[in-house]
Amino acid sequence: MIEISGLAKRFGTHEVLKSLDASILANKITAIVGHNGSGKTTLIKCLLGLDQYEAGTIRINDYQLTADWNYRAQIGYMSQIARFPENLSAREVITMISDLRQGSPTQATELIQYFHLDDEMDKPLKTLSGGTRQKVNAVVSFMFNPDLLILDEPTAGLDPISSSSLKDRILSEKEQGKTIVITSHIMSEIQELADTILYLLDGKIFFDGPVDVLIKQTGEKNLERAMAKLMS
Ligand code: ADP
Repeated sequence: MIEISGLAKRFGTHEVLKSLDASILANKITAIVGHNGSGKTTLIKCLLGLDQYEAGTIRINDYQLTADWNYRAQIGYMSQIARFPENLSAREVITMISDLRQGSPTQATELIQYFHLDDEMDKPLKTLSGGTRQKVNAVVSFMFNPDLLILDEPTAGLDPISSSSLKDRILSEKEQGKTIVITSHIMSEIQELADTILYLLDGKIFFDGPVDVLIKQTGEKNLERAMAKLMS
């Protein structure tokens, strides 16, 4: 469970988040949507403790952010583009991150098999395709079995088979009780995965509720059309 209260973040004079309030429910998939520049990435960076904010509070489970950074150990973050040292192999990256976290990646072996990466693990990352790197990114994000998964455009660069595998995995992580926050510009993907939508507009939450309620409110037949109607 994440509680965001009065969150304000500006870059110079540009107020990106304006006293934003939101709750992200446990054991659900919540999608953060909004037009380009609406503050989705900024909000995610605030949750990760990567952006400082001027006002407000964020609580993740029992942790108040900025007071105790240990909450980060509960988070698996999958960025849109994986940035790991290019000369390392996927296996070396996993070892390096495990050493840094001083933890054991309990799910790594199973995830490597799940994403069919066995034959790719010892090659330098720079020789792997973008999609294969994104699957390595998924392994690294999920391998410590975190309670909270923050997934920023997770299927970017994946072919349809890999994308479907990742989406199935995201749904099964939810079934196991994980809290999942996702961004995607593919509305059909959000409709397929998300229980709840947080729609960011003008620095605040314009809509917070189930996907089907949003679709019904706009009178449209699917989320893509509903979002297009709202954005225009
Ligand atoms: P989104 O992810 O919804 O596309 P962002 O959170 O990336 O939006 O950006 C929100 C706004 O904040 C944009 O106008 C962007 O230009 C601005 N912004 C984001 N990061 C910075 C930064 N480091 N410095 C200055 N402006 C920034």
